[in-house]
Amino acid sequence: MVAPNKSKAAYRDSLGLYINAKTKWFESLEELERLPGFRNEGLKPVVDRFALRINSYYLDLIREAGDPLGRQVIPDRRELDDPVFDLDPLNEEGQSPVPSLVHRYPDRVLLLVSDSCAVHCRFCMRRRKVAAGQPDLEPAFAYIAERRKVREVILSGGDPLMLSDARLEIILSRLRQIKHVELIRIHSRVPSAWPSRITPELARMLASFHPLFLVAHFNHPREITSFSARACGLLADAGIPLGCQSVLLAGVNDDYQTQVDLLTSLLRIRVRPYYLHQLDPISGTAHFRVPLAQALDLMSRLRGNLTGLAIPQLMIDLPGGGGKVPLVPEYVVSRKPGLWKIRNFKGQVFDYPWV
Ligand SMILES: *Cc1c(COP(=O)(O)O)cnc(C)c1O
Repeated sequence: MVAPNKSKAAYRDSLGLYINAKTKWFESLEELERLPGFRNEGLKPVVDRFALRINSYYLDLIREAGDPLGRQVIPDRRELDDPVFDLDPLNEEGQSPVPSLVHRYPDRVLLLVSDSCAVHCRFCMRRRKVAAGQPDLEPAFAYIAERRKVREVILSGGDPLMLSDARLEIILSRLRQIKHVELIRIHSRVPSAWPSRITPELARMLASFHPLFLVAHFNHPREITSFSARACGLLADAGIPLGCQSVLLAGVNDDYQTQVDLLTSLLRIRVRPYYLHQLDPISGTAHFRVPLAQALDLMSRLRGNLTGLAIPQLMIDLPGGGGKVPLVPEYVVSRKPGLWKIRNFKGQVFDYPWV
């Protein structure tokens, strides 16, 4: 995919990507051999299929190959023996009227502005797109300009913040020229996976396009470090409302205490949990799947025990492009005209007569 070290900078530059001389990129299995617990056995076919990328910041956070951070980015042989073979279960390609744009909901579109990420998550729901080439966005700008119902454009990818400030500024300016685009939202894993990319200059540039929201992607409390706290602080100080979407992952964050630590740590760095995603049925991710009943049980324990500000919505994305649906634990115990019985977070049942 990416050529050997020397030409990497030139390669990235030609794509309009951000360059930071201090960050090292690890894209071959041999480079991971210094990690405790890492065994380079049978992994070559895995990375031939789904490319490897970890950067020096994220690698330093990993204590052992099998820990909750390592599991997210280190290839696993089980990626090749998943019975599910769908690389686009949400039918994004079918809902893409022009290249790099997905239009599923009436008022908003997803604009895939970059094919590059700071790390390659082994559970990526868009792994078919990684390193697929930087898109030409002209048809997408024209599409949005012609549709007055599109009130919001969500920049995603890949990761929008892999682009250079200059490239991002061009994209944001083009969108701001379209009068009916009220909101711009950026979805990014950079605050957790490459926080040094968030500079005061970047925050200032983004702030010139308000209202601009940013939804970060943290999955584990150990991803919240002084570096990610500083990155989110810069963005929040620039007036950018910050949310977080996490993916519920077996062996990473599927237990109550890890979620409590993650959610409360996010609030401390001024990030408001937004969505907790049930993993999509993407090829090669079966070993990360958490049963829905367990996910609902987790949500049920969080609600009431934690401040409401910390509670994300549990979301499933319907296969075939049906869209996102929130799943809520059952609180209604029984319903009769004039009297519903409703349980609280402690399991006590109350009469609710005003219905
Ligand atoms: C998730 C998603 C969105 C954003 O949905 P919200 O519920 O507004 O966060 C928009 N378009 C597509 C295609 C999506 O998958």
